[in-house]
Amino acid sequence: MASQKHQLHFVLLPLMAPGHFIPMIDMAKLLAQHGVTVTVVTTPLIASRFNPIINRAVESGLPLRLLSLRFPSVEAGLPEGCETIDTIPSLELMKNFHDAIDMLQEPFEQLFELLESCPCCIIADKHIAWVADSARKFQIPRIIFDGMSCLTLLCSHNLRISKVHESVPDSKPFILPGLPHRIELTKALLPILFNAGSSELQKFLNRARAAESEAYGVVINSFEELETRYVDEIRKAKGDKVWCIGPLSLCNKDNFDKAQRGNKPAINENQCLMWLDEQEPGSVVYACLGSFDRLTTPQLIELALGLERSKRPFVWVIKGGGKAGEIEKWVEENRFEERTKERGLLIRGWAPQVLILSHRAVGTFLTHCGWNSTLEGVCAGVPMVTWPMFAEQFLKEKLVVQVLDIGISVGAQGVRPIFEEDKCKELVEREAIKDAVEKVMGEGIHGEERRKRARVLGQMAKKAIQEGGSSYLNMRLLIQDVMKLVNHKDSTQKHSRSYKST
Ligand code: UDP
Repeated sequence: MASQKHQLHFVLLPLMAPGHFIPMIDMAKLLAQHGVTVTVVTTPLIASRFNPIINRAVESGLPLRLLSLRFPSVEAGLPEGCETIDTIPSLELMKNFHDAIDMLQEPFEQLFELLESCPCCIIADKHIAWVADSARKFQIPRIIFDGMSCLTLLCSHNLRISKVHESVPDSKPFILPGLPHRIELTKALLPILFNAGSSELQKFLNRARAAESEAYGVVINSFEELETRYVDEIRKAKGDKVWCIGPLSLCNKDNFDKAQRGNKPAINENQCLMWLDEQEPGSVVYACLGSFDRLTTPQLIELALGLERSKRPFVWVIKGGGKAGEIEKWVEENRFEERTKERGLLIRGWAPQVLILSHRAVGTFLTHCGWNSTLEGVCAGVPMVTWPMFAEQFLKEKLVVQVLDIGISVGAQGVRPIFEEDKCKELVEREAIKDAVEKVMGEGIHGEERRKRARVLGQMAKKAIQEGGSSYLNMRLLIQDVMKLVNHKDSTQKHSRSYKST
């Protein structure tokens, strides 16, 4: 695909959290499809989750590889094998996790020096601040990957400048400044940078923020048609080195890649597809609230009963986490699985989300509004039932429900940060869940129009990454930009060599 003088070599460094490393592995595949040699530097646990996908990509001829750095869990005071945010046992150990990430700088730089074909660019998660030093040391551009939407980026940028949130009362919704649409939120529902909760997390985010301002550019998992006005505004604010290259999940074309994306699924993919094949097109509610579990047992029970009351086929993904035993006990004692076996499929653990969402049987996605999940719902062309839990998710809910008008909220206002979900006293009741599902899937002109808008957006998403589409072209522009830097560096080096020799 690429006709370059040089074979460009990019190094990718994802953050050790599923919502961050999953799209970066997708990005690695996309870059390789565009002819760039890609080395992803990660940890053994993450590598093991992706090996089947990467091996298939390599066998198909893509110039792609995964290299692992041992994650210093024990040295940082974490349990052995704790390498990703979803494996940290408690909030207190978050600081240790950040320390372990910092300890990776030296081994990363040693590995970098050993790479045979000299990399010309690092794309790193924006939260890994020390990469700014490494890039400076190796004199190559550092581009950050921002795992958020353009709306979130713009909102955060505007709040940092205007600081209006600092002078509004806690409980009063206020209009977010400088956005193309009138969006209101209370302080508690603002993005995490304004709501870190702990001073440790705030410090981590502030460091990332400081390093962000020095980056050469930013790649975003979004597409221009989805957030047109936000993309324009963010370019005005940050300059033209903003490349929307998503939706990244669409690089997974075959069923194996879709099924094995992110982790080993807790259900056999054929069994899952057979179950979906038996359902009517557009009839299934797919309920999955992200890669972490943030609901208390009583709340999980309400969700189960809401799905049952909706009287529609459903797939319910139960992460359970520490509460797995409790919810399992409830499921058994109440014969929930037996009661709903005609139309319910329970997945305990990791679901093959992209495989499920791309099946025609799925009619709605009940989501926590993580950005990856939101985009995957958009790609599937289905409307969403939105249930944000914390951080940026409330803003994404606004995008889905208010700006794009392709979703209905369950009405959650409670913040459920990871590890502290028990502190949230709000209980979203089964009726509210059933009603939201009904509004999204039921008869009636509004429901039909919403479904149509979702279908159209799904088609736009697919076009965006096809040859000639907006994200395809942005990917070409990104590659050409780095190519220009490489050529410029080559020519200045040649020039200085010939100057010295005369
Ligand atoms: N995911 C999945 N199976 C699951 C749970 C999550 O494949 O059982 C994937 C999902 O497709 C998405 C990512 O994990 O790509 C979750 O990222 P998101 O930003 O939606 O939410 P987070 O988990 O980071 O809150």
